[in-house]
Amino acid sequence: MGVRLSEIIEVHAGGMRDGAEFKACLPGGASTAFLPGEFYDIEMDFETMRKAGHRLGTGAIMVFDQKTCLVAATLNLTEFFARESCGWCTPCREGFPYMRDLLWRIEHGQGQEEFISILSQMCRHLWNSYCAFAPGGVAPIESLLAYFEDEVHAHIEKKKCPFNDK
Ligand code: SF4
Repeated sequence: MGVRLSEIIEVHAGGMRDGAEFKACLPGGASTAFLPGEFYDIEMDFETMRKAGHRLGTGAIMVFDQKTCLVAATLNLTEFFARESCGWCTPCREGFPYMRDLLWRIEHGQGQEEFISILSQMCRHLWNSYCAFAPGGVAPIESLLAYFEDEVHAHIEKKKCPFNDK
């Protein structure tokens, strides 16, 4: 507890691969928010993360480099939450598949600017779900929009994933 993220990555995890630069990480599994580069030196403990407006979650760190499309990563995570929802309450049961479809369309060149505000509204809506699964599940989407909205816009403007030149 309290070890800096940078030390965990560079010392204890052996560092980034050659040519890879830190872009973001999920600090504590799929239901935490992306931490962008400005948090690279944050101390990894519950209180520091809370003060920074983030959660440590499970502490299972997933690191993404500069070549990783975070729209695709968020789509992958949202696919998981859509599949794992128990279906008991409506916002979660209907919301995750709806947001997954919006993210899929953005990632595959079919996005529209209005999707961004719809995703943002849906995230707030899912906070009305019954259990903590849904608010946790929207954390990647909320942080994608908070820190990497430019990347979402780029997908919509180019009508393709800018990380995929094929
Ligand atoms: S929020 Fe919880 S109770 Fe509601 S559908 Fe999702 S997993 Fe089930």
